Amino acid sequence: MLLIDPAGNSSSSSNVTARTCSFGLGAGFGCFAVLLAAAFFFMPPSLVRDCKHYFVLDTPHIFIYYRLAMKQPFPKTLIQATRYFSDLDVCREFVAFLRWPHGVHCVHCGHGKASFLTTRRIWKCAKCRKQFSVKTGTIFEDSPIGLDKWLLALWLVVNCKNGISSWEIHRSIGVTQKTAWFILHRIRLALKHGDWSKMGGEDGGPVEVDETFIGPDPRKMHADRRQAKYGAMYARPKIPVMGMLERESRKVRAAVVPNVKRDTLQAAILDGIEQGSTVYTDAGVGYDNLAAQQYVHETVNHTEEYVRGQVHTQGIDNFWSLLKRGLKGTYVAVEPFHLDRYVDEQVFRYNNRATKDNPLTDLDRFLLAVSQVSGKRLTYAELTGKDNTTQLPF
Ligand SMILES: [Zn+2]
Repeated sequence: MLLIDPAGNSSSSSNVTARTCSFGLGAGFGCFAVLLAAAFFFMPPSLVRDCKHYFVLDTPHIFIYYRLAMKQPFPKTLIQATRYFSDLDVCREFVAFLRWPHGVHCVHCGHGKASFLTTRRIWKCAKCRKQFSVKTGTIFEDSPIGLDKWLLALWLVVNCKNGISSWEIHRSIGVTQKTAWFILHRIRLALKHGDWSKMGGEDGGPVEVDETFIGPDPRKMHADRRQAKYGAMYARPKIPVMGMLERESRKVRAAVVPNVKRDTLQAAILDGIEQGSTVYTDAGVGYDNLAAQQYVHETVNHTEEYVRGQVHTQGIDNFWSLLKRGLKGTYVAVEPFHLDRYVDEQVFRYNNRATKDNPLTDLDRFLLAVSQVSGKRLTYAELTGKDNTTQLPF
């Protein structure tokens, strides 16, 4: 529209200039945005492949970082996670993205080309022609529960310091308590560490080793119940758990052991700690032969003292306190048969906790957990021991 000013001069020319200017600027920004988008979305595959040794958001290529970060505005808090994972398609894309950062690969033959069947939300391999979903070959396999509920449960487990019980999951995500219990056990399987490198060594720093006992205290039971359940007062119904903490990395490993005899403890130490390392223990007789096994062994006698300079087991005692807080406060009654999985869960949270040197967030812990879900499977029969192939933790 032309504006006529009171002097009668047409202002069309100035308006045209202004329009040209704004059009020029707009076109400039538009072109820039298009070029930027093209740079992000038509990245040479070789650049993407170069990143395979890095975690997806830890890539050295800044363009790929932005491409991933722009495409994946991951949630950072529980409320954001609840909103983000409310769409099943987003959940599927999220798990597929973490599972196959370089494109979908067939779970049967490993082939890199598969067509997506949109109506059924599964892929079909171009080579072996078999079908698979994002759940196949993971802890989610054969589960009728949607990924929205699975991912929210996973978020809660890895970020609740003292764990979360199956009753709480049942109320929070709307599944039965039995299903929630099964979900939690499958998640614990995913959280189990897969690092079998030895602790300690010349650069690894000293390692604290200790054991603890988990179970009911017969002294606090009614005499009749104690008599019926355990017989003599001195019978120890507790289950021993052995743990090691590497001082330098502040990482823990812990597992249920059949007993605390010398052979058992020393075999575990030989398996888990590099010979030549410094090992701090209490004065238990199970550890009395470590110097002969080429360890530098220092003990602290807990009847006299708890700390003597650097010689103490307070680090691993701290872990025991966290483990017991979860077991007593949240899980309350844990069958000895399943105890190993509860230990794995606490070990995951402890090893991936936020520290001054390594300020991990809830999202980091969650991404790490989701990246561990594939290649693991636990059926209900295995979990409850109805399957004959199931092995006891000891
Ligand atoms: Zn295939």
